[in-house]
Amino acid sequence: MKKEYSEILLAQARKIKAVALDCDGTLTDNTEATGLDAPFAHGMLKRRSHSDGQGISLLRAIGIRVVIITGEAGGTAGARMITTLVERWNNLPSVEDGSWQKVTLYTDVFCQSKVAALDEWLKGVGVDREHCAAMGDDLVDVPMLRAVGFRACPITAEEVIREMADFVSERPAGHGAVRDLANLILTAHGIDPTTLPTK
Ligand SMILES: [Mg+2]
Repeated sequence: MKKEYSEILLAQARKIKAVALDCDGTLTDNTEATGLDAPFAHGMLKRRSHSDGQGISLLRAIGIRVVIITGEAGGTAGARMITTLVERWNNLPSVEDGSWQKVTLYTDVFCQSKVAALDEWLKGVGVDREHCAAMGDDLVDVPMLRAVGFRACPITAEEVIREMADFVSERPAGHGAVRDLANLILTAHGIDPTTLPTK
């Protein structure tokens, strides 16, 4: 059965040209397993969904720019996890043949600094705040969410974030929340995802 969105939501989503994502609690399920021994050096294990990676690919396939802006600091296991993931996304065949743009990653960025990183990135990709969507889950994301034209969050986001969101995913963070946003944007553009390259 095809998912139904309101016309207002579709009109808002149709304007989106760029998507900014938080990492923990948005791309991951917001938990970490600690106290682990090697090979999980630094004792941290995080969980994320391939459905979200595919959602990011679909956005890139229709020319939407994507940035990850996270408080994870360089050198930590969490930062290495997202750095490795973005490197993998940026070495896919569609990037190598020039069809897709690379995903940008900012680490070690919190609260108001997320807006500074966002503005720097938006300037570089030539998109204004009004045509940018952001997805985040907690208080550190509030300045970034307030800065953009379209606010999204996982259903597992804090209540204060869900209350300010234009779009709340059906699936939890780390389990398809980002894919839900991608699906909305594709539907808003009337694009059938089965017609797009997947990697
Ligand atoms: Mg978060």
